[in-house]
Amino acid sequence: MFRVPANALLRHKLSRLRDRRSDSATFRRLLAEIGAMLTAESLADLPETVEALHTPVQAMQAPVLAAPEPCLVAVLRAGLGLLEGARMILPEAPVGHLGLVRDEHTLVASEYVVRLPRDLAARGALILDPMLATGGSAVQAVARVKQAGATAVRFACVVAAPEGVEALRAAHPDVPIIAAALDERLDGRGYIVPGLGDAGDRCFGTE
Ligand code: URA
Repeated sequence: MFRVPANALLRHKLSRLRDRRSDSATFRRLLAEIGAMLTAESLADLPETVEALHTPVQAMQAPVLAAPEPCLVAVLRAGLGLLEGARMILPEAPVGHLGLVRDEHTLVASEYVVRLPRDLAARGALILDPMLATGGSAVQAVARVKQAGATAVRFACVVAAPEGVEALRAAHPDVPIIAAALDERLDGRGYIVPGLGDAGDRCFGTE
């Protein structure tokens, strides 16, 4: 399942994020805000149960999550920008880090760091990576998280290219994908068009 939430605020923040005039501090703030919104959208259908509690006014049966918060997995580097916002709304979620580097010529990703929480099987995981471009690193990230035990895996990105959505869907049809926008295409260098440029460089000021 691929979904772009119908959300005017999300579209507005994404436009500011895309704007080349947004400096690194602005970019980072917006990425965190979008990360919080995408996390909420991605997890909106988590299973619920009810709990008896008292408000200051009266007793009630209140809806709560049926299972512990899912693990958050940031794909380095730019996933860290989304993670900042995701942790605001899932403060108790364990966090994994996955470092994948893309060869500029072959566009194939290889791993340089893998640190994943132990209880992935019980919680499930939400993978955060702003750019779903060729889909190569997304396919690899999902495979790695599944290999570590997660059965329920979700994927959240800011901008998706049609090529990336197709690749991820084909490799992992069970993984719901959420994006703030579906863009037109990839260019010859593997950048998403119109996209927002290099998310890692803009987030960390390394342009
Ligand atoms: N990664 C980025 O940071 N930007 C793109 O456009 C594609 C991949």
